[in-house]
Amino acid sequence: MNQANNRKGKVVIVSGPSGVGKSTVCREVAARLQDVYLSTSVTTRPKGPGETHGREYWFVSEQEFQDLIERGLLLEHARVFGHLYGTSKDKVDEALEAHKTVILEIDVQGARQVKTLYPDAVMIFVLPPSERVLADRIGRRGREDSEDAEERLDGAGSEIAAAWQYYEHMVINEDLEQAINEVIQIIREIPGSG
Ligand code: 5GP
Repeated sequence: MNQANNRKGKVVIVSGPSGVGKSTVCREVAARLQDVYLSTSVTTRPKGPGETHGREYWFVSEQEFQDLIERGLLLEHARVFGHLYGTSKDKVDEALEAHKTVILEIDVQGARQVKTLYPDAVMIFVLPPSERVLADRIGRRGREDSEDAEERLDGAGSEIAAAWQYYEHMVINEDLEQAINEVIQIIREIPGSG
């Protein structure tokens, strides 16, 4: 059966380069809007400073992640910067059944997979105001060593290029409050949204 015809809520994909602040934007949007479910992804990447299992991510081993894939429990998954990331299917289905707006903060590869499953998913890409600002933000949060930080900054260029072709909405996160409000506005304008 076509899942897209079967569901009740809306799917909103939020992507953007590492360090652009999309997690903060998504968290705030979810806190300010009613009936929103912000999906917590599963990942094999090591937990960063200040991160908590079950809050930023469900941190699992490669073996546990492979089990989730084999058991068909992931809606989508992708390898990003050497680690696996995926979206739990059950929780998303449950939220859609409950007429909620589901926000998925996922990369461009995952977004493509979700768009195939849910063709009317709304796609938002968060851009940094400049490369310089992005480099500063990645450096300042101090989560990665310098090699990983550089890889993330290098990856931003190709991700942004792909996004221009693929995403319906581009939101520049120069002013956090403005970026949050733009995303809220996009969600409010989805046909059928409450
Ligand atoms: P980070 O390690 O900086 O938290 O995330 C790295 C990248 O993985 C980001 O682009 C983020 O959007 C992406 N990501 C996080 N969760 C998922 C997921 O469940 N699926 C996919 N495909 N990408 C994800």
